[in-house]
Parts: sequence; C-alpha cells; structure tokens
Amino acid sequence: MTTPAPRLADLEQQDEFIARHLGPCPAEQAAMLAAIGAGSLDELIAQTVPVAIRLPADLPLPAPRREHQALADLQVLARKNQLQKNLIGLGYYETLTPKVILRNVMENPGWYTAYTPYQAEIAQGRLEALLNFQQMVIDLTGLELANASLLDEATAAAEAMAMARRVSKSSSMRFFVDQACFPQTVDVLKTRAGYFGFELVYGSAAEAGAQECFGALLQYPGETGQVDDLSATIAALKASGAVVAVATDLMALVLLKSPGAMGADIALGSSQRFGIPMGFGGPHAAFFATREAHVRSMPGRIIGVSRDARGNRALRMTLQTREQHIRREKANSNICTSQVLLANMAGMYAVYHGPQGLKTIAGRIHRLAAILALGLEAAGVRQLNSRYFDTLHVALGSAAVAAAQEAGFNLRDLGDGTLGIAIGEKTTGADVAALLQVLTGKPADLAALDAQAAARDVLAGLLRQDAILTHPVFNTHHTEHEMLRYLKQLQNRDLAMDHAMISLGSCTMKLNATSEMIPVTWPEFGDLHPFAPVEQARGCLEMIGQLSGWLQTITGFDAVCMQPNSGAQGEYAGLVAIRRYHASRGEARRNICLIPRSAHGTNPATAQMAGMQVVVVECDENGNVDVADLKAKAEQHSANLGCLMLTYPSTHGVFEEAVREICAIVHAHGGQVYMDGANLNAQVGLTAPGYIGADVSHMNLHKTFAIPHGGGGPGMGPIGLKAHLAPFMADHVLQATGPAGRVNAGQGAVSAAPFGSASILPISWMYIAMLGGRGLKQATQTAILNANYVASRLQAHYPVLYVGSQGRVAHECILDIRPVKAATGITETDIAKRLMDYGFHAPTVSFPVAGTIMVEPTESESKAELDRFIEALISIRNEIRKIEAGEWPADNNPLKHAPHTQKDVVDAGWSRPYSREEACFPLPWVAENKFWPSVNRIDDVYGDRNLCCACPPPEAYR
Ligand SMILES: *Cc1c(COP(=O)(O)O)cnc(C)c1O
Repeated sequence: MTTPAPRLADLEQQDEFIARHLGPCPAEQAAMLAAIGAGSLDELIAQTVPVAIRLPADLPLPAPRREHQALADLQVLARKNQLQKNLIGLGYYETLTPKVILRNVMENPGWYTAYTPYQAEIAQGRLEALLNFQQMVIDLTGLELANASLLDEATAAAEAMAMARRVSKSSSMRFFVDQACFPQTVDVLKTRAGYFGFELVYGSAAEAGAQECFGALLQYPGETGQVDDLSATIAALKASGAVVAVATDLMALVLLKSPGAMGADIALGSSQRFGIPMGFGGPHAAFFATREAHVRSMPGRIIGVSRDARGNRALRMTLQTREQHIRREKANSNICTSQVLLANMAGMYAVYHGPQGLKTIAGRIHRLAAILALGLEAAGVRQLNSRYFDTLHVALGSAAVAAAQEAGFNLRDLGDGTLGIAIGEKTTGADVAALLQVLTGKPADLAALDAQAAARDVLAGLLRQDAILTHPVFNTHHTEHEMLRYLKQLQNRDLAMDHAMISLGSCTMKLNATSEMIPVTWPEFGDLHPFAPVEQARGCLEMIGQLSGWLQTITGFDAVCMQPNSGAQGEYAGLVAIRRYHASRGEARRNICLIPRSAHGTNPATAQMAGMQVVVVECDENGNVDVADLKAKAEQHSANLGCLMLTYPSTHGVFEEAVREICAIVHAHGGQVYMDGANLNAQVGLTAPGYIGADVSHMNLHKTFAIPHGGGGPGMGPIGLKAHLAPFMADHVLQATGPAGRVNAGQGAVSAAPFGSASILPISWMYIAMLGGRGLKQATQTAILNANYVASRLQAHYPVLYVGSQGRVAHECILDIRPVKAATGITETDIAKRLMDYGFHAPTVSFPVAGTIMVEPTESESKAELDRFIEALISIRNEIRKIEAGEWPADNNPLKHAPHTQKDVVDAGWSRPYSREEACFPLPWVAENKFWPSVNRIDDVYGDRNLCCACPPPEAYR
C-alpha cells in the first residue's frame, strides 16, 4: 500500500524553524511521554498547568516564518533606519570593533552562549578576560579595585550614590550632582534618590565643596566636553566628609590625569567606545572602580585570584557573600545579570591595541577635535570649551545642527543656541573638513590647522604622567594571529552551550539560534546613536513596536516598557511603577512588599532599593506559598500593603494551584501583584501573567526569548503592565519612549538609554517571528515534557523535592542531595564538580533550597543530550553508592577530587583508590567529546581571605 504524497502545507510545516528549535522530534517525544506515563503532550500539560489558569485560546500571533524569510523581513525594517555619522556624544561614540574580536568573541557561541562563571573550573577563559577588563579599568582610572561590569553608565552612577551612603561617615542625606553630568545620568539618579530618601543638590563643581553632603558625583570630561582638574574640588568635598565619585571616559583617560590621581573615591562610566557598537543604546559594559578599603561595599561581581587543589593559580568570582543571593534586602545592589560579553570585548580591545595603540587612537581623536576647534576659531565661530579631549561646545544653534544633518552628521543640539560635536574613532580628516565647510561656509586648510594644533597644547597640565597597561597581557597580542590564538586559548577553557547543555534552573539556557544572532551585528542596528533624531531610527522603533506588541499578547498586559536592561532592573522599574501608582491615589504610605521565602535574592534587594519594607511569606511543605500565612500578613499590613512579588511557576518548579486566590488576597488589601517573570518559559502560550492576575511583570528576554547569556550578560528585562500602571512606567529625558509621537510623561528613567539594550532586541524579534504562536506554545509544552522526563528518570536516584498535585513538575525540577550528604558527606558542590568530568555544566546549585540542584533542560535539548545528562547523574549516583558501601573513603574518591585535569592524568604519584580512567573517562561516550577543566577544584576560602583582583604583576612572568 502506498501512502499519499504529503501536501505542500505539510512539507512547509515540516521545514519550519520549530523543528530545529525543539530538541526532541515527534517520535522521541512519544517515547519520552511513554517513559513518564503520559498518554499525550496535552494530557501531560493538563496534569501540570492548573485548568483555572489555562488560556482559553491560542495566542493571536503571526504564523511561523521560515528562517530566511524572517531575516528578510527584519532586513526590510533595518533598512528603514538612516545611518548618519553620529557625533552627538553624551556617552555614546563612534568606535571600530576590531574584526578579530567581532568574529571570534561577539559572533562566537563559544563566548556568547556561556553562563555566569559560577562553575569557575570550567570558566577560566572568561574569568581571565574579565580580570583583564578589571586591570584595564584599574590602570585607566588610577584606582585600586574594579568590578567586572555594571549595566550602564547611568545605573553605575546610581550604584555609586548608594555606595557613597554606605561608606560615608557623614550623617547628611544630601548628594551633590555636578551640572556637568550627562542628562540621562541625572535622570536615573533622580529616580533612585527618591526611593532611597536622598536629596539631590545640583551645582557646578566649583560650588561642590561648600555643600554638606554624604557624597558627590562629578563628571570629567563634562557633558559639554570641558575638561578641568577636579583635584581641589574633590579635596574640598572629602574634607567635609563626602565620598566622591567621578563619571569619566576611558578613551579620554588614556591621555588624561586619572580620577584616582585627583583623589576620587569611585570612578565609573561606560566602556562602549572600546570597540562596542552604539547599538541604539546598548548593550555596553559600565565600569566601576574604587579604593580597596571599600571592597565590601562595592556593587557587582568581582573576579579574584585564588588557587586550586594543586596550588596553581585559578580565578573565581570573589566575595560573593556581599551579593543579593546571600544578603537579600541587605545586599549592596540588586545586580545579577550584568554585561560580561561586552566587558570581555572592551578588555580585549585594550589587549589587542595595547597601551601604544590606545594612545595612538586617543591621540588621533584629540588631534581631530583640535583641528576642528582651530578651524572654527579661524572662521570666527566661538568654541566654548577652554580645554577638551574629544568634544567641542560650539556657539552655533539649531540651524547649524540641521545643516550638519543635511551633510550627513548628527550633532548634539543643546537647545540654547549651542551645539556639541564629539569626535570618535571612526571620524576622519575628511569628516572634519566637511564639518568645517558646513559650519563656517568656507573650506579649511587641514594641514595648516594640524600644524597649529600640534604646536598648541590644550591639555597642558592635565595629561597623565603614569604608565598604563604595563601588564604582559596588554603588551603581547598585537598581531591578529597572536590575538586570534589568545582568544581561542581562553575559549578552550570554557564550557559553553556549544559543547553541552547547561541546565541552569531558573536561568532558561535554551538555543540561541544563529538566525536570531545574525541581525545583532547589522550596522543598521549597531551604528544608531540612542539620541539620534527619531526619524532616523524608524526601522528600530518599528521593530521595537512589533516586539512590544507580541510581548503584550504573550503576557496579557496592556503596555510594555523596554527600558530595563536586566530582570533585576525590570523588578525595579515595576516596583517604581507600583509606588508611583499608589502615590497618585494618595496612598504613598503603601510600602510593604510581601515576598515568599523561596524568592530569588534580587526580589528583596530590589524592594529595598524601591524604599519598601520586605515581609517574608512562608512556604508549606509542598513548596507552595502558605496561603494562610499570606492572608495573615496581608491582613496585618493591610493599610500599608504595597505589593506581593511572586515568581510563577514558583522557583520550586511547580504551578501553584492557588495562584489566582493569592492574587485576589493581595488585591483585596489594596496591594498590587508583581510577577517575577523569570519562569515565563513555562507559561508562554498556556497561561500568562496578566491572565493569572498580575499587574506588572518583567520578562527576562535572555531567558525565555533566546537572547544568549553572554557569560553573565547582556540581558534585557522589559516589563509588561496593566493599563492602570502604564502611565507610571519609566520614560526618558532625551527621547520619547512611547508609541510614535507620544510625549513622555516625565516619570524619569531607570536606564541610560530610552530602550535599554536595544540592539539585542532583534534576537527576541527573530525568535518570536520564527516560532509564531504555534511554535511558542510547542516550545513551552516541550520544555515541560523535557523537565518531567528528567525528573521521572532521576527520581529513583535523587528524590525530586517538589511536584504538583498530579505528580508533575513544571519546566524545571529540584533534585534533593541532602539525603546523600547526610549519608556520605558528598555535597551538591561535589556533584556539580564531578559533572565537569562527564563534560557537563552543573545545574543551579543550592537555589532556591540549600543542598539541592535545580535542573531546567529547556525545550531545545534533544533526547540524546538529556539521556547523556541523565546517564551521567546516574553514574555519579553509583559512585556515591560505592562510598556508601565503604569501597571508597569518604574523603578520597572521584567526587571529592573532582574535577580532574590533564595534570592528574600525568601525575606520576597517583595513589588514589580509583583509576585515572575512572577519573577522566567515567563513561564510554565521554572520550568522544572530552572537555578538560583547566584547573583542579578551586579554594574559595583562600580566595576570599587573600583578596587579589588584578592581573599578576609583570615580575610574575619573568
Ligand atoms: C534570573 C532571575 C532573576 C534576575 O534576573 P537578571 O536578569 O539576572 O537580573 C530574578 N528572579 C529569578 C527567579 C531569576 O531566575
């Protein structure tokens, strides 16, 4: 019997991206369903997602588009952007990404699909890259210690303000803000200061010393480009007890005296112009440096040097006990995802160019600015900065800005009859000549101006005298071959998703498809300045508008705010909207924030930043929110109840059935429901935060919507809001953020850029366009299937801690290691390290329950990969059984000594009770794709006790 040939529609459906995004094919899905005892996918979902919250209909989204079609459609949008030479400045400058970094880091899944380096033994590559970044920041700022990036310059300034309050001995609640600060920085400071209860005092740096403040933010070079030595101002401020932060520019600091040399306590800024495209606002890595004495008060992650079990140097994230995972509402900051990929790129830019190359680049930028200034002066046009690095302040108004725009240059219109011109690395002599022609109406003699500029030193007395970037790493890799090999060497030390699944519970590390990534490096997105005239960004705004609309449909909200550039920032933007809403109704007193005990550390850390008081709600023995306790606490705090922060499905990996009731209780007491959307991957197409009863929720686009984690950032955390909260969402001083033409309501900003890290939004756009409503729903169903398959196959070896009423988990499952620990002393950490020997990255360790691991396989892992992972964990369980049986001593076995390295293999003195083969090739298939950890188990305690967060000194290499 012959089967009829398939119809065209069937063939087209089989050829969709969906099949390549989902791990298991239909036959494998059937096998997995049989293995877990479910009759069909629909039956499994019915057993998992409570019927009361199931969406009545499929998502009304466009049909799936094939990969090339989606790319072609996005290309049409991209072409609607108009690319000008962008000399607007304000923290965003034209730069040249070295192609060796573009292709081998930014476009390389070996770098961009990695996770935050919690498993340090398999992350030594990016840890070294981040240490380079820290060293570069230390050298250029002249301070002692730097962190491994923050989200953007404006939030870094806000973190500096909060840190100043932590370390200042002054009792003042006033914070001084230099009028030379960027307007978007001030915008974010205003938002943050309000909820911290700080009063901002504005003035010129010269007036700063006379103020009584706990801290101050100065900026150097200033927003108009003027450069002045701030030493006296800083000394005066410090004499009155203020902690002084200086916002600055790394490229300027290549030439200029450093903030550290001027006495600053903190230096911060953006590393964008070290090779990172402007990207309509981001992502870029902010930097943050301070004095060693303040290390425990510093926000963000810090990479430190420690040693491994063989006594060799090894890197890790240091002093993590300062962070929100441990300190919760007492944490320094709510920062979780930051900007690792971009910090790596900026650090590599310095590695590649070296001190001499950077001096050439900075010198060239300065010379072009000087030529332009002299040319303007010669033509009788006043240039108002007495001293400048790259940015001129010119006494010409809007007409000149318009003429320049006509000639292809975007300049900054200050709106007071003056304009700003910021020279970038891309700017050429021909550009300067063209600008002089436009602005003065006369041709200029560039060679003559150059000679004049060379003879006149506008930076006299301001140049730095100290050597920078003297470490070998900045003086070795200047040829492309050397650089390529250095990048590969580091990449080889890191286990990313291009090697194996990273089943990080709560972090949703799914496929980052190549088609999704390709548009990120299109110049139409990369070369847009965030403050360029909106009509030049029509394509980008249309793309953002479509994506916002799709996200509204998916989440069931009425509006989306694209500004927050991480989940934690989304939490902040959401809580701020809630506080503003209450205040608008005369209920500003509502400052109680209920948070279940199982919540992620960012929740309480954020609530504190929003000026709220955290009240913890208990969970019951099944892991669900204890509804009786919630009721009692909501009643107790009824008059002041601000909101509940609820993660759904809960971090315990189940869909709580009482979720609607929970929302209703909070609403009945006048509170709002904030939903932490980190687990949205279990909801899309089946239910939705807005449908369940949430008022506002963030979406981690770097979890659910396919933006890669980049080794710890970038990310995007837009929020969806119900109509009543929409008027209170963040906007921006410099750019309208609403739908075309809508004027901002003056709410203030939470990020430096109007749409956060806009240039990675095409990833999520592509993801949704290619999957369509049908594919998105299948993705969610498959994620739930994969998690239940893992849970069901491992249940006999490691108890699954929480399941729903019908015995199912959601999209992730918690495996309990505590019984093993009690019986053998083997810990969750030992299992995490042993997994490295099998070629796997550990799942989430000890969150949300200490002594457990949380596995989230996601929909894009194939059955074969899941089976290998399961087999590895079962094999490890059998190793533990040998310890239980006394075959191996509790302190001398492959788990306690994991991970194993090539040094172990060649160790002539090997005397362990297991073979080197058992150590390194524990299962037959391991050898086929062996990943070698580059160091042995790292000593965490040693690293925290012997703090060292810089590159080894040059002597160490001799
Ligand atoms: C990831 C996560 C966050 C924080 O999101 P970031 O983007 O890292 O700031 C908050 N809550 C939960 C449950 C998470 O998993």
